[in-house]
Amino acid sequence: MKRFIQHLSLCVLALSCTLNVKAQLTIVKDKKAYSRIILKEKTNVNEQAANLLQDFIKRISEATLPIATDTKARKGDILIGSGNTGNIGEDGFSLQTENDQLHIYSGGGKGAIYGVVTLLEQYLGVSYYAKDSYTLTTRPTITLPAIHRAETPAFRYRQTWSYNNDDPIYKMWFRLEEPSDLFIENMWVHTFNRILSSDVFGKKHPKYYSFINGKHRPGHNSQWCLTNPDVFDAVVYQLDSIFKVHPDMKMISVSQNDGNNTNCSCPACKAVDEYEGSPSGNIIRFLNKLAERFPDKEFSTLAYLYSMQPPKHVKPLPNVNIMLCDIDCKREVPLTDNASGQEFMKALEGWSKISNNIFVWDYGINFDNIISPFPNFHILQKNMQLFRKNHATMLFSQVNGIKGGDFSEMRAYMIAKLMWNPYQNADSLMRTFMDGYYGKAAPYLYQYQKIMQGALLASGQPLWIYDSPISHKNGMLKPALLKTYNELFDLAEREVAQDTLLLHRVQQSRLSLQYAELEIARTQTETDKTKVRELLDLFKQRTLHFGIATLNEQKNTPDKYCDLYEKRFLPQAEPNKAANAKLTWIIPPHDRYKALGETALTDCLFGGTTYVESWVGWNGTDGAFILDMGEEKDFSRIETDFLHQLGGWVLLPHSVTYSVSSDNQTFHPFGSYTFTEDRDLQVKFVSSTVQSRKNIKARYIKVEVKGIGLCPAWHYGVGYPAWFFIDEVSVY
Ligand SMILES: [Zn+2]
Repeated sequence: MKRFIQHLSLCVLALSCTLNVKAQLTIVKDKKAYSRIILKEKTNVNEQAANLLQDFIKRISEATLPIATDTKARKGDILIGSGNTGNIGEDGFSLQTENDQLHIYSGGGKGAIYGVVTLLEQYLGVSYYAKDSYTLTTRPTITLPAIHRAETPAFRYRQTWSYNNDDPIYKMWFRLEEPSDLFIENMWVHTFNRILSSDVFGKKHPKYYSFINGKHRPGHNSQWCLTNPDVFDAVVYQLDSIFKVHPDMKMISVSQNDGNNTNCSCPACKAVDEYEGSPSGNIIRFLNKLAERFPDKEFSTLAYLYSMQPPKHVKPLPNVNIMLCDIDCKREVPLTDNASGQEFMKALEGWSKISNNIFVWDYGINFDNIISPFPNFHILQKNMQLFRKNHATMLFSQVNGIKGGDFSEMRAYMIAKLMWNPYQNADSLMRTFMDGYYGKAAPYLYQYQKIMQGALLASGQPLWIYDSPISHKNGMLKPALLKTYNELFDLAEREVAQDTLLLHRVQQSRLSLQYAELEIARTQTETDKTKVRELLDLFKQRTLHFGIATLNEQKNTPDKYCDLYEKRFLPQAEPNKAANAKLTWIIPPHDRYKALGETALTDCLFGGTTYVESWVGWNGTDGAFILDMGEEKDFSRIETDFLHQLGGWVLLPHSVTYSVSSDNQTFHPFGSYTFTEDRDLQVKFVSSTVQSRKNIKARYIKVEVKGIGLCPAWHYGVGYPAWFFIDEVSVY
């Protein structure tokens, strides 16, 4: 029944879909090939389609259907190629039984391959779930019913980063594309600096680049001064030479570098932005000029962060593609149902009024903690329907393909299926996946997902793509729920205990829950540290066993995470003598962190990779404060722990100076520490440790931090105030 419902819903996109049991076609009988596969045109795509069909027919029946071209088709053959496609669009196909033959008609693009995949999936019982993971029933005879079915995908381009590397069938089966398939030299996003490199042109032509905070600032994440006519000429020159190398390709991205508010604010650019009501005004004017200059090319550009809202007056030309990103949106409900989503919807609807050529870049995982629970499965379908309704023809669902990411196989499966047809039943997709991939454990994991989804909605807590499980410790991850989830996973593991393959799939999916528990445990002083240590050991052993390479977008490894966890969060032999010291600000942190900072800097709790707890931040300023330990103490070492997280504009400061006093009047120098600049994207914890040769006696410690002020030219935030974050000062 489930399959039948799914089958019916697919017909939403189908031109026709009827079943005629009379006109059967036998293609294999008693393991002997009856049919041949005939290519109507010898193209790469048709050949791939034929090979895929031949391969799976063999896996099912042991028979090898011959593949032929330039041959007159006879009764019983399967024909692949163009013809009789009616209204079928790019990547679409039509399967038609005609005159005792099966025709797989392609609507262009990879339609022939997707026709074969549909034939295998819907009529030959092959189900593909994840990398190298599929099911089929072997049989000696294969008979096909009469088929009349046609489909066109909802989006002409469908991209996701999923757990599919080194499985060549996966990409075909899930009908996915990659930027390099379409974009010249893989230039598909953030290309300003690739086209006019600031390293090459910055020194000689600083005026090509954004005017920020009083001057033009060339940099990898600066932007262009789009009203400067010399910039247009320089860009045309560069593009012209790129196009000459790739005369057969059409699409290229000319788009802002990553980083927010780094657009040019020179008087001319500012005037256009004000008239157009959005910085996208300058971008679209510039892109339209390029589109006119090269009318046979298609130019994609970003509507992202500062340029998300459409311009009031200028309209993009048809060969300007708008890559619209919903990065700032929260994910607990569909985009129509919360404030951040509504801001994006305003942009989407605005763009859809002036363009039919929209590429939506959607986000669906916690990038700072990819392994952490991220129950957004209930919003995928509704959001995709909104994109389609508002003229999006291309879609990138960025979920990241990291093995070990929260239900990454199921996430990739559901996203790929829904990108093809967002009107099929998403819940039955989830059930189909779980039944096929987890076997008898499926009902428990389904309950786990549903309970967590309900708990997320009931908590009122937003689901954010730079979130931490700690934000949900009183919501969907509160103790009573963690207990329920673990009971469900225990039952799931017990159900498949005899099947190593299924057991490992369940255990790998459980890692996200275990990670959440570890993260929450480190923020609580009252937890049973022996139990935490056991969980940490298990997590370390399992991530190693399953080959989980990273935990987050910054590529921090599980191994290092576990070692750091032990060092930072589990009890150490040496107590911090400054524990619970009274703090007085000299140069206080940003207002947002002032209250927290009064206790957090000496509470003996260290922060994690996201700065949602424990971390106290200063923005663009220096920092200074005095700690009062309550009485004179002996010590020889002072450490202050800093966060290095470039993505969040959190950089290491310049230096730290410590001085000590017994009366809070006269301070004596203790020592200072100077940081080395670090451009590594990995999240790090860096301690400014100063050790004196002999023990010192003092009650007050003054900590003075010299910040770096503005973000440097190589950083995303070029010209804007940099943050530095401290979570703890320790005295030993
Ligand atoms: Zn400018």
